[in-house]
Amino acid sequence: MGRTLVWLQGQSCGGNTISLLNARSPDFVGFLESEGIEVVYHPTLSTVWGEELEALLSGLAAGRPPLDLFLFEGAVPLGPRGTGRYSTLGRRPVLEVVRELAHAARYVVAVGNCAVHGGIPAIAPNPTDARGLQWTGEAPGGVLPPDFRSRGGLPVVNLTGCPAPPHLILWALALLNRDLLTPADLDRHGRITCFYGPEGGCAQEPESEHKHCLHCARMGWQPSGKPHWEEVRPPWRPVRFVWVP
Ligand code: SF4
Repeated sequence: MGRTLVWLQGQSCGGNTISLLNARSPDFVGFLESEGIEVVYHPTLSTVWGEELEALLSGLAAGRPPLDLFLFEGAVPLGPRGTGRYSTLGRRPVLEVVRELAHAARYVVAVGNCAVHGGIPAIAPNPTDARGLQWTGEAPGGVLPPDFRSRGGLPVVNLTGCPAPPHLILWALALLNRDLLTPADLDRHGRITCFYGPEGGCAQEPESEHKHCLHCARMGWQPSGKPHWEEVRPPWRPVRFVWVP
């Protein structure tokens, strides 16, 4: 088995899944094949459900099989009264499952604004007490504490956007799959600096000179700066760490 990937959803419109499935050159399946990543579970793509799914998630939390890439979209509610039962997966609160898998995973990725900092579900008066994985609005601390670090030594890697653009999801997965990210590569919001930096980053400006992009160099994309994927020109504007007030 190659590197393992699990994707879960909380309070989500599913837009990040649609974004992921819109990836081209490569598409998601081609990307998985080229990177040697196995999807152990994705709520839209997998057929496992019910007690079988509960057993699968319990096994992953216990390291069977070892979980490498844990991606999450949507916010996670703490309510009612801290139980998390406003959002459940099988018979368990998503809150519990997220905390277990986050501690088991080599890397944790929050995909989209809701997962990053609560997004739309956390808008005041936030009736479900929705949180992001490691942020709530502008404040550090979500359902995971600010000092959380996954097995691979990183905080939650945050991919902002509503939804996060597909090429950023795949580029982040490629970097993590190859253990090419360090804590120094993330900004204070846990975002990959070259994706979201004030200079735009090469992921936003694929035809720039890439002089500042260490990640392209580590991926073997320098000096041309051209990834081996064709479709690198995003139709999206650069996204920032903002949310709907
Ligand atoms: S960040 Fe946007 S696209 Fe993603 S789950 Fe939230 S509302 Fe949907």
